[in-house]
Amino acid sequence: MNRMDAVRAAEAEMTEWRRAFHAAPELGFEESGTAARVAALCRGFGLEVTEGVGGTGVVATLRGTRGDGRAIGLRAELDALPMQEASGRDWCSGRDGISHACGHDGHMAMLLGAARALAAAPDIAGTVRFIFQPAEEGLGGARAMLADGLFDRFPCDEIYAAHNCDAPLGQVIVHHGPMAAAADRFEIVLEGQGGHGAEPHRAQNPLPAAARLLLALESLPARVTDARRPAVLTVGAIRGGEAFNAIPDRVRLAGTIRALDEQARATLEAALRRHVAAQAEAEGLTARLDYASPFAVTRNSDAEADHVIAAARDLFGAAAVTVDPPPEMGSEDFGFMLAERPGCCFLLGQGDDDHRAVCHDPRFDFNDRLLTIGAALWVRLVERRTGCV
Ligand SMILES: [Zn+2]
Ligand SMILES: [Zn+2]
Repeated sequence: MNRMDAVRAAEAEMTEWRRAFHAAPELGFEESGTAARVAALCRGFGLEVTEGVGGTGVVATLRGTRGDGRAIGLRAELDALPMQEASGRDWCSGRDGISHACGHDGHMAMLLGAARALAAAPDIAGTVRFIFQPAEEGLGGARAMLADGLFDRFPCDEIYAAHNCDAPLGQVIVHHGPMAAAADRFEIVLEGQGGHGAEPHRAQNPLPAAARLLLALESLPARVTDARRPAVLTVGAIRGGEAFNAIPDRVRLAGTIRALDEQARATLEAALRRHVAAQAEAEGLTARLDYASPFAVTRNSDAEADHVIAAARDLFGAAAVTVDPPPEMGSEDFGFMLAERPGCCFLLGQGDDDHRAVCHDPRFDFNDRLLTIGAALWVRLVERRTGCV
């Protein structure tokens, strides 16, 4: 059986794996059940398996039988999201408040399908590393694997990742350069002095300051960053006060900054810090700012983007490949791996009549019809990069 036939023959099993992952989702760095299942399957395919890389990460290695060649890293994610599922599927999450609403269950299953097909026909020149990373959803799983020596222990010459998206089923979307934004997270607490609503002069009300601050922050992308460099600042939460006639002593604002280059990101962060400090100072309040940068820009290298484009055109035809649409302002922590090795993170459309919800929507479910498409693309990419085609 050639490898593509092996991928097609694995469809039922990939679907079974995917739905089992879906029914038992685990949060970042707690994916011990998922990781154990992935490791067991990879051992069953005959791969060398290392567990516990960067916490719960798993790396499975296939050594080609045709001697030296490139080492190709292919990444999928183990973690689910802290949100309640509302997909109504039979394989719906069995865990309250946790669900595979980003489709990582499908990414794992399609990579496992590719691993099995490649392991069954290992006459390639080079090495394939199947990298299953923990905690992609903002908890720093990619950085944890890198800190644990990912690319020293498991050398890779080039790395790739795929993510589902709401484009039509089977559409392959590839960017040269930035494909997803850096995403920072901030939380601001303004503290004053509570009091009676009738006597504001005896209190220090943080609410008006929070309102002015919110308006100032929301307008920053239009004023401090270069208009030709996309950047977003969103305040997504504001909490303070309970009673109509009482002045609260604190208010909390939380939000995110997104940008496609480091300069725009850093400019917005600096401006935010200035505004928080100045507003607090002007109003006689104290301000606390927690600021985190869990996602770097996900920047593809041109040559590796071209390899994905070539493999996808080869398999599915030119019309199925979209090249260089505007990048996403969402984020992807594969960006940290791409900062260390050349590679490409590309998108796979999964939209059809039964799959309209975008990822992170409680109704989202991964489209199982994408499994053979994604696994076939992984296999063809490896074949092209290891001297088979
Ligand atoms: Zn996600
Ligand atoms: Zn995701």
